[in-house]
Amino acid sequence: MASYPSRGTDACAVRHPSRKVHGSLWTVAFIPVLDNILLYLDELLSPAAFQDYGPNGLQVPGPDRIANLVTGVSASAELFERAAELGADLVIVHHGLFWSGASLALSPSAKRRLQLLFDHDMALAAYHLPLDGHPVVGNNALLAAGLGCASHEPFARHRGAAIGVAARFAGDGIAVPELVERVERLTGRAPLAFLAGPERVRSIGIVSGAGSDYLADSVAAGHDAFLTGEPAERVMTHAQEEAIHFIAAGHYATETFGVRRLGELLAERFGIRHEFMEIPNPI
Ligand SMILES: [Zn+2]
Repeated sequence: MASYPSRGTDACAVRHPSRKVHGSLWTVAFIPVLDNILLYLDELLSPAAFQDYGPNGLQVPGPDRIANLVTGVSASAELFERAAELGADLVIVHHGLFWSGASLALSPSAKRRLQLLFDHDMALAAYHLPLDGHPVVGNNALLAAGLGCASHEPFARHRGAAIGVAARFAGDGIAVPELVERVERLTGRAPLAFLAGPERVRSIGIVSGAGSDYLADSVAAGHDAFLTGEPAERVMTHAQEEAIHFIAAGHYATETFGVRRLGELLAERFGIRHEFMEIPNPI
């Protein structure tokens, strides 16, 4: 007789009637919760729409059943050690372990990271550009909402797929010092700002992480300001000459939002424990 797991929702107790066991009996098996979580994330984030720098989705398999989820911005030995201390079954990150162009051979640090996942039987999944560009749970949509923007639309395309947002403040916009203050409050650190734009900011291009190259897109779109994570040397004069505000609020600091929100969503939907692991990075 089949029994339902005590924890979880219908979503993690889906019957799989087509599986035949022991050659004679048709039994009811439960699709592993990890598969359901990955399916849900796949539908939510549509990773196939992005040509990314590394694989989105499951990067390292772990247990079938997931009770404890840890999220973090970047895969690292420290993150995995702390996740193991919490008894994590699944770790979800924005920056995963594997990047195109990197060596296929394992370095000692890559081995150690994998070893931690294997030793503690933790699965690893990563969502990169899909988690920047998503209109609701993406880093940039959440930055726009956190800054108090009234609306936002897709912006900054990477091989055809929007990874940022172009956002608007209501009415007459907000004063420049107010924008800088809101960025600082939201990200928890003082941003680097070149304030060469208009007194009031009505429109802003937002591309989290290393998005400096999209400053030109913001200029072309006539935005009053552009916000990214990591600055490039050339942006100071570019912003000044184009009379646009440029704000760099930190690569890490602008990319905590999406993966944390994803964890909260999964906790709510699948009834699992979730903790966002803060491992601050000044870059
Ligand atoms: Zn990033």
